[in-house]
Formats: sequence, structure tokens, C-alpha cells
Amino acid sequence: MKIRQHPRMQTITIGDEVYSYPLNLFARVEEVFPAAVCVKVGILSVNGFLRMVQSPQLWRADDIENLSVCRYCGSREGLELEHGTGVPFRCCIHCRNKPPEKRHPPSGWWADHRSR
Ligand SMILES: [Zn+2]
Repeated sequence: MKIRQHPRMQTITIGDEVYSYPLNLFARVEEVFPAAVCVKVGILSVNGFLRMVQSPQLWRADDIENLSVCRYCGSREGLELEHGTGVPFRCCIHCRNKPPEKRHPPSGWWADHRSR
């Protein structure tokens, strides 16, 4: 059986920052799979004493958005943080110079779920 790559995975590489909508967490990609990423999430462990542990997790491509690329066109050129959403989405130099109505609609989980 051939495993089909999730379209979102084409723009995600190791070291990218991704955001998980269901978990409201940011993490750095450690490994890339056809339809998921492996990330390490820092969690507080209270096992006798309080400490931070790095817990590996598998996040589904459907649940995440790549914050290391432009959220409108997927470019990695001249990225800047986009303010006002609470999530550090990035916007490239080309899309930043376009009026908002001329930009591609944002891709990703937020766009997929907004109309529901
Ligand atoms: Zn762009």
C-alpha cells in the first residue's frame, strides 16, 4: 500500500515550529512522517519533585499549522510575525505588501475549521 503524503507535510521540515490547535501548544519538529510530525513537548512532571521533561508526541498533519512559513503563500522569504491573532503566524515580505483582500486566504487548520 502506498502511503500518501498529506499536502501540509510538503512545507514542513525538521526544525520548523508548528502549532497544534487542539492542544494549544507550540513545538519544534523533530521528525517528519507522511501525515504527522514528531515533536518534543516540554511538560512539567511532579513525580516526587518538580521538573521539566521533554515528551515526544505525534501530531497529526490535520491538527497543526506550520509557523515557520508564510501562512498565505508558504514562502520562507522575509518572514515577520503577524500580530493580532494570539498565535505567532508569519507573513512574508510579498504578502505583507499586498492589501489583505489581495492575499491568498490563510491555509491550515484555522481556515479549514473557521466556516464550520
Ligand atoms: Zn506570503
